[in-house]
Amino acid sequence: MNKLQERLFEQQNSKALLKQAQQAAFDYIVQQPKQRVFPDQANIEKLSVFEESLPNASCDPALLLALLDTVGSANTVAQTGGRYFGFVNGNALPVTLATKWLADVWDQNAALYVMSPIASKLESVCQTWLNQLFKLPEQTVAGFVSGTSIATLSGLAAARFRQLQKMGWDVNQQGLFSAPKLRLILGRQTHGTVAKAISLLGFGQASIEWVECDEQGRMIVEQLPALDPSCILVLQAGNVNSGAFDDFTRVCQLAEQAQAWVHIDGAFGLWAKASHVFDNQTKGMELADSWSVDAHKTLNTPYDCGIVMCKDAEALTNALHQQGSYIQFSEQRDGLMYTPEMSKRARAIELWAAMKYLGRFGIAELVELLHERAKLFAHLLTKHKFTVLNEVVFNQVVICCESEQLTQQTLTLVQQSGECWCGGSIWQDKKVIRISLCSWATTEQDIRRSVEVFVQARRQASKV
Ligand SMILES: *Cc1c(COP(=O)(O)O)cnc(C)c1O
Repeated sequence: MNKLQERLFEQQNSKALLKQAQQAAFDYIVQQPKQRVFPDQANIEKLSVFEESLPNASCDPALLLALLDTVGSANTVAQTGGRYFGFVNGNALPVTLATKWLADVWDQNAALYVMSPIASKLESVCQTWLNQLFKLPEQTVAGFVSGTSIATLSGLAAARFRQLQKMGWDVNQQGLFSAPKLRLILGRQTHGTVAKAISLLGFGQASIEWVECDEQGRMIVEQLPALDPSCILVLQAGNVNSGAFDDFTRVCQLAEQAQAWVHIDGAFGLWAKASHVFDNQTKGMELADSWSVDAHKTLNTPYDCGIVMCKDAEALTNALHQQGSYIQFSEQRDGLMYTPEMSKRARAIELWAAMKYLGRFGIAELVELLHERAKLFAHLLTKHKFTVLNEVVFNQVVICCESEQLTQQTLTLVQQSGECWCGGSIWQDKKVIRISLCSWATTEQDIRRSVEVFVQARRQASKV
């Protein structure tokens, strides 16, 4: 046996590294409620220990792991706790983390059935369950990707394939250079990742026709341009600031009459479909052609776990088609048919675990919980004379203070407090604080404690 192999077999057989990692993980979980939500400067400075040139020789893996634990753990953002409200990041349900650990040991490639029957089976099961949960047409297919960015790219690639085909153009064969023009119709408040997908797909930003939004960030239907089969519309289930939902029914009806394609970016909001509480928001969602959604946000699976769903299986698989002399397709599900990537981790495992564990009712309970917490946050902040700028229809709260300067300073102090963390944004041309409720672990106590942090931060900021 080769020397390197000897060492690696020894590491594998002793399991010492896995045990060390397990102990570090357990300590992290116990410590976490006491840890700062964002690391302090002293810890951040310690990150410089990682700045070294590429080592020549091999090292002691136990020391390596210890280094990562001591310096690394202290420099994490406590996203798995109850007082992180930044972006729309989400926590991880314990059972999803446990299944991911096991699946990490399996190290499966979910590209083909012959690479992993279990990954293939769980992808199929998740596809069926997602269709049932979101009440999508039965023929809808799902691709498991890194996140909504790639899900949107995939959905729009399917749209590009189909809409050009309707106009007698095969984009796979003929490309885009002399293709008929497609029109991209987007709300003014569309997420930045949609514009990125549009660039990557070669449409160009100049092909976007922007539609103005109302005060909640919903596309104003009356302002839609006349639609035709060259149109691809992107709607939002969950505005990235306010959490607002577009009027799917009306837009999808207009699109259908015109043979236009509708994609819904539902990164965190699509999950609202699980509860009747949000029926007003989600109705008509199923009338679209494709959807993107993240399980790593509202559903609380670990990263990364995005999903593209498409009613037109042929369009999606044609857009993402791949061939190769050595590729062995099977009668079973081959994951690579539905994603831009070939090799990929078996992320449907955690998605399956979340849906199997929670069930339909549990998912409803989770989204309602996040909504309740968001409403409490908004209510308490209003009581303390912060201005809540949005209707809290889901899990997002947008607030400001009396002046933009006070808002900015308050936000900075909240971020520095280590007690909780949220981000800033621009809403209706104004600097605002944006609060996202997306962790299963957030308790009422966490909200009260965080509101207290806000009140103190504003008090301190007004003195400066
Ligand atoms: C997070 C988010 C995205 C991007 O998703 P990723 O998983 O980060 O790629 C797109 N749209 C909305 C509305 C989002 O919240």
